[in-house]
Amino acid sequence: MGGSHVKERIDICIAGAGLGGLAAGALLSQKGYNVEIFEKEKILGGRALSLDGNKLTLEEYISILHRFETYIPFSVPSLEEIFEKRMLEGYQIDLGFHLLESGSRSTIGRVMKKLGEETDISGTRLGYIENGEFVFPFISCLSPIDIVRAIPRTLSLLFARPPTLASLDKVPMSETIEKYGKGKLGLALELTSRLITTANDLSIISTGETFRVMRNLLHGEKAVGYPRKGIGTLAENFAAVFKKHGGKIHLGRKVEEIMVDDGIAKGVIVEGEMKEFDVIISNVPIQNLFSIVPEKKFPPTWVKKIKGLKGTGSLCAYYSLKKVDRKLVGKSLVFIERDIDIEGGDALGMIDFQTADPHTRLSPKNRYLIQAYIICSPEEARNAKKVEMLRNILDKWVEKISPNFMEDMDWAIYPTTWHLDGVAKTIDNEKPPSKTPIKNLYLVGDCVASTGVGMNCAVDSAIHLVQIEINKNFVFV
Ligand SMILES: Cc1cc2nc3c(=O)[nH]c(=O)nc-3n(C[C@H](O)[C@H](O)[C@H](O)COP(=O)(O)OP(=O)(O)OC[C@H]3O[C@@H](n4cnc5c(N)ncnc54)[C@H](O)[C@@H]3O)c2cc1C
Repeated sequence: MGGSHVKERIDICIAGAGLGGLAAGALLSQKGYNVEIFEKEKILGGRALSLDGNKLTLEEYISILHRFETYIPFSVPSLEEIFEKRMLEGYQIDLGFHLLESGSRSTIGRVMKKLGEETDISGTRLGYIENGEFVFPFISCLSPIDIVRAIPRTLSLLFARPPTLASLDKVPMSETIEKYGKGKLGLALELTSRLITTANDLSIISTGETFRVMRNLLHGEKAVGYPRKGIGTLAENFAAVFKKHGGKIHLGRKVEEIMVDDGIAKGVIVEGEMKEFDVIISNVPIQNLFSIVPEKKFPPTWVKKIKGLKGTGSLCAYYSLKKVDRKLVGKSLVFIERDIDIEGGDALGMIDFQTADPHTRLSPKNRYLIQAYIICSPEEARNAKKVEMLRNILDKWVEKISPNFMEDMDWAIYPTTWHLDGVAKTIDNEKPPSKTPIKNLYLVGDCVASTGVGMNCAVDSAIHLVQIEINKNFVFV
């Protein structure tokens, strides 16, 4: 056990109850560590939260969205009228569009199962909208010629060993598609790489990362899933495991500072009081880390690298409809709007009818909730003109598959975020590992180098942190 801390009891503090923090808490408490989570908000789940339309007030809604770097530039009717007429009653909505890559076979689904907490996650394959029609599943439109010509080369990448994939991390997808992606297979690669990174610009999307996630997708035939009763159930289930094993969650208690002495993290300050811990794990979005640990405590090169990291954004939409074509219910469909004034030139969007399935229990009887989003950069998400253009594009594509949908619409809200994925998985924008230059201080969450899209990445980072860093270095007897 050379170099390990061996004690009778190891006290661990986690700052933040996002999915990364909660998953780390559940895994650690199950192993017998003594863990406390401090969360600054009064709600669990961080960006993967669900809001109960029966309880929500307009002021709370705007304030919660704002605290997670999201706002509503448009709604129909006005937000004031939606709340005055209590139009959100009976609905469960997330911060913005959420889908779980690989559904129940995702990293999250598999970890939950291991922790003994089954989550009811529906799943579907992906369809593609083209010329007012949709092909579902998309894969069915690959012609035998596409398959014979290109699949063997793509398969060799899909099953490449980790070092081969790592060597492709700096190769842009635009190059890979040019080389291997003929016909509809090229389109499949284009769609997948944009979905995985939530970035539009193929020239900055990493080939290695795309194929790593594509391999994950092979675990199940359902490309995307949605948990029954809202995305917030994922956080609730991790919290239930955590508490069952003795973990403590303090909601509404912000970590004001992480105390660092002589390059070693010693404890945290909460409500002015210093609490000592053996290990401190930050689930705080990395861009905010220096607000709780002075940057002079880190090497300047590390600070520079972290400050240079870029996230992703999107414009989402929730539409509540009185009726929906039954052939759409349960399906998720993607589209690409070509040649527009946006980073990367084309924008990928998605319209999801899984949330319209009554089984998800997200809307009142006889109402159907549709969620949609279109990718943009964080800067574009804050640009009024771009956001208006994206909203019109989104409405146009919904109209293509659901003509005259506005006539059946009760309301629509358009949450727009400039902090979707904390750190984009793009070339030259490398996520840091969970180990930081400060001893006993670790990171967890979607800002950490790990496999998977958004929520899966956050939970995958928790698995790595617990298995590689904590289990080996902090041993209790
Ligand atoms: C609109 C939108 C749509 C998205 N869609 C998808 C999707 O379809 N699929 C997908 O996989 N991902 C999606 N994501 C991304 C996904 O939500 C995140 O990747 C994931 O939830 C991040 O989890 P996390 O644990 O890394 O961080 P967070 O969820 O950000 O959690 C961090 C927590 O730390 C807390 N905190 C911060 N500072 C302090 C402090 N000083 N003290 C105590 N607590 C603190 C915060 O309040 C928060 O609860 C979307 C995100 C948004 C915003």
